[in-house]
Amino acid sequence: MNRKALDELKQQIPLLDYLKAQEWKPARVLSGGRWMGLCPLHTDHKPSFLVDPHKSLFYCYGCGRGGDVIRFAELYHQVTFPQALGLLREWCGLTPLLHAAVEFYQLQLHRRNEAVIYLDQRGIHSPEVIEHMRIGYAAGGGLRGWLTQLGYPSSVLRAAGLVTEAGYDSYIRRITFPLESNLYGRSIRSTAPPHRFLPGSKGGLYLWEQVRGSSEVILVEGLFDYAVVWQAGFRNVTCSLGNHLNARQFQQLCDGPCTVYLAFDSDTNGSGQSAAQSMSRRLCAQGVSARCVPLPDGHDPNSFFVQGGDAQRFQRLLEAARP
Ligand SMILES: [Zn+2]
Repeated sequence: MNRKALDELKQQIPLLDYLKAQEWKPARVLSGGRWMGLCPLHTDHKPSFLVDPHKSLFYCYGCGRGGDVIRFAELYHQVTFPQALGLLREWCGLTPLLHAAVEFYQLQLHRRNEAVIYLDQRGIHSPEVIEHMRIGYAAGGGLRGWLTQLGYPSSVLRAAGLVTEAGYDSYIRRITFPLESNLYGRSIRSTAPPHRFLPGSKGGLYLWEQVRGSSEVILVEGLFDYAVVWQAGFRNVTCSLGNHLNARQFQQLCDGPCTVYLAFDSDTNGSGQSAAQSMSRRLCAQGVSARCVPLPDGHDPNSFFVQGGDAQRFQRLLEAARP
């Protein structure tokens, strides 16, 4: 990539926009329109990260690192320079494309009986939660044609992972949930692999910006867990999409709430509980109070609610949660 192309890429992505998309929040303004905030690159307790939006440059007085948006992407995602360029280019192109795909899938949801039946089986009834999570349905045909009509070339659709190399829709008979820069699809068939993501990171904690100010946060493993807990009225819930937290998700928990309720699957083989306990220890070491929610054996939050659990009983489990 030559100098000119690099400058063009940097112009397309103002550093401040990119930081905000990674949920960086300025804490205070300085002279010359510069901002100070917590450093996303190290565990920072007082704002030491300086951003100059006009020059699109940053500098951290805590860890001593600084540079432009490409340097930031390298450090933040812990990737090489060429990989950082790839991530940034993807970030530029993927956002509008994903938005179009999500809208298409949302329109399909209520037109397909099998999708409505599946949601019902998983305890998702309220239109509010469907709207809130922008739940959709990929029947497995039609997306490619729709996006092509909108002017997206096939090569872009394949690169994003929405269409297979052979030219078919990648998501077939899946309930879809948009993530910040990815798309989760849950198969409604037992014969297909249950979980599917687009290539790339699953991102940070689900809808983190909506709960980061809460003093207590409930963390669940899956989006169907999230849906039923939210639907029952617990709005301080978030989801890690699996029982392993990536570095960014862990950092979010450390910088956010005081108490984290870990409502992980209570599998009969104990893997959910041991994941919760090791995470609880790691969080405690960072000064976050973590409690493991004692779900009945063999249950996750989704099956708990589907099989008759209600908000009151879930509240009692939260109260019974221990470090
Ligand atoms: Zn720093």
